[in-house]
Amino acid sequence: MVTHEVEVLVVGLGPVGAVAALALARHGIDVTAIEPLAAGATDLRASTFHCPTLEILHELEAGATLFSQGLKAPVYQYRDRQSGEVFAFDLGEIADRTPFPYRIQCEQHRVTADLVAQLQRQPTAQVLHRQRLLFMEQDEAGVTAYVETATAVERWRARFLVAADGANSVVRKVLGLEFPGFTYDEKFLCLSTTYAIEGAFENLSLVNYISDPDEWMVLLKVPGLWRILVPAPENMADETLLADDYKNAVFRRMLGREAEVATQHRTIYRVHQRVCERFAVGRVALVGDAVHLNSPMGGFGMNSGIHDAVNVADKLVRVLRGGADPAAQLALYERQRLTVTRDFVQAQTIENTRLMRDGWAGARAERRAAMARLSQDRDARRAYLLKQAMITSLEQAAAIA
Ligand SMILES: Cc1cc2nc3c(=O)[nH]c(=O)nc-3n(C[C@H](O)[C@H](O)[C@H](O)COP(=O)(O)OP(=O)(O)OC[C@H]3O[C@@H](n4cnc5c(N)ncnc54)[C@H](O)[C@@H]3O)c2cc1C
Repeated sequence: MVTHEVEVLVVGLGPVGAVAALALARHGIDVTAIEPLAAGATDLRASTFHCPTLEILHELEAGATLFSQGLKAPVYQYRDRQSGEVFAFDLGEIADRTPFPYRIQCEQHRVTADLVAQLQRQPTAQVLHRQRLLFMEQDEAGVTAYVETATAVERWRARFLVAADGANSVVRKVLGLEFPGFTYDEKFLCLSTTYAIEGAFENLSLVNYISDPDEWMVLLKVPGLWRILVPAPENMADETLLADDYKNAVFRRMLGREAEVATQHRTIYRVHQRVCERFAVGRVALVGDAVHLNSPMGGFGMNSGIHDAVNVADKLVRVLRGGADPAAQLALYERQRLTVTRDFVQAQTIENTRLMRDGWAGARAERRAAMARLSQDRDARRAYLLKQAMITSLEQAAAIA
């Protein structure tokens, strides 16, 4: 069997693996990234890039499409679908804390393609498509990985392995790690359209969270498309939810009238809230969806995965170039990222989803009071903006020794 050697093997080239590999390669680390797909996935998932993630991508010089074609959204709105009330939050209020006081709206697959292209330009990086990790084992000196190519199974020997292989992570399973949490009962239906739905709402912004106990909605604009996320009954078959009748009913309820709205995508998702018990085991670090899944309310999943990726890359550079102790550095990575994932990402997305679904234990009145308080109190609003922009969680992680 062929055996290849590398300093770091990155498994999976979604946005998180691509950032991890690029951050390592830019420090001259010898890194190979493997990905089963011939080109990256192009499904509709993340579209919101928060302020600190923009800083990271700018620093990695991997934001060409994001910065040139993405839509700048300084303002996001919470709306109550039944009363019509609107609360707007302006990231311009925290412009003293970030060079990018806005979200950028752009599909994750476009940004991932730029990241992979930038990775391929790095002299110490290698990108291998159509290669799938089958199994891995480790000892004190490194990790041995078995990778399926089009024609054979090849062996890789790496000093460290970064697992960015997504929600069904093979690495997590091989390590026998639990992935505790829960799955929401309802399905989430994601539609996209070029139809000008802003005509049906007054002053709609590019990012809108619309709460409603009957049918909440997230309306997000990305270049050329509106994306609409709505809950769908768990007991209804996917074919029914994806059919024209159901789509037409969603738009009829949204627009308040019959309208022929063509869609570009229709996708059903099951949404989970899960955090793995470990983010690092021996010489293996796990990042992104491989170790945490959450509801898309707030747009934290990919962003927090990218924050994992730069954190672990920094620790591996300290070990591989600075001579730091590997066990101590990976334990620090785990402490920092596991803590903020549990305390902030999971807690906040559960709360954001609860408020969208409304109606739960009087959440509607509670939400209105909270929003009214934030409207009137500048300091509280700044704290809220910094938290929802993920700036606070990065500061909290950095403060953990
Ligand atoms: C509807 C929806 C909306 C969302 N919106 C947002 C948002 O606005 N903001 C946000 O931050 N997040 C959002 N998310 C979450 C976001 O999409 C994910 O958190 C993100 O894709 C995770 O990136 P990743 O690289 O960890 O995993 P993935 O993107 O899943 O990539 C994993 C990669 O690993 C590869 N792989 C799998 N198995 C193997 C193997 N055995 N060997 C090698 N490679 C392998 C896969 O092919 C894939 O390319 C949303 C999710 C959904 C469903």
